[in-house]
Amino acid sequence: MIRTVVWNENVHEQKSQVVRDNYPDGIHGCIAKSLNASGKISATTATLQQENHGLTAQRLAETDVLLWWGHAAHGDVSDDVCDMVCDAVLSGMGIIFLHSAHFAKPFKKLLGTSCNLTWREAGERERLWTTAPNHPILDGVPHHFELENEEMYGEPFGVPEPLETILISWFEGGEAFRSGLTYKRGAGNIFYFRPGHETYPTFHHDTVQRILTNAVLWAHNPQQRIADVHDAPNVPIEKSLEPLTQRGAKLHREGEDGFR
Ligand code: ZN
Repeated sequence: MIRTVVWNENVHEQKSQVVRDNYPDGIHGCIAKSLNASGKISATTATLQQENHGLTAQRLAETDVLLWWGHAAHGDVSDDVCDMVCDAVLSGMGIIFLHSAHFAKPFKKLLGTSCNLTWREAGERERLWTTAPNHPILDGVPHHFELENEEMYGEPFGVPEPLETILISWFEGGEAFRSGLTYKRGAGNIFYFRPGHETYPTFHHDTVQRILTNAVLWAHNPQQRIADVHDAPNVPIEKSLEPLTQRGAKLHREGEDGFR
């Protein structure tokens, strides 16, 4: 079983009846339930309001894949938790960023760019097209499918060029967007998935649930995690594999800093 945590800021659910009607158990509860139904994933949840946002170093070490939904409270996520999440990704934890998590602290830190986009909330139709139909995240996904009501996100999307663009979206108002992107940072697999605005029932959609289940399976890196991603050990001359008998005069003059 792939150990998975669905993290949600869980703010709109407290303030909006529409969101509560869509997600009585929260966005996190809905996603975790659908992942668990796969029989291959053991999904639990964590929210912003919990101590340490529900994410300790120990819990992250025991998490194969983390999903992240946030929107209204990105700034309330502590920098320490953001750093822990990013280090876990570099060490090999998979991570899936959903919809407005394009502005989540760990997403911006891992990708290092503005992550800006254009947007409009008009409940318009979104048509998603697969661009890499043989990709494992798209296993069983039709060549195109539609979400009747979604928020529009448009290009330019201020992210680094991804490893793979596996989904693109067309919106009723005319815009287009790269909606399924993969990255690798360190040993960690990253997937960004665009749909998932809180006032629409997107995470109940069969194809969306299928994509997220596939994405968890894809993002899981079964290799042993890197123990310390900040470790940069020096290999002293006396421990080099081959004897270093001649030292460059310019770089290794005896007595200067860095020379022993
Ligand atoms: Zn939204």
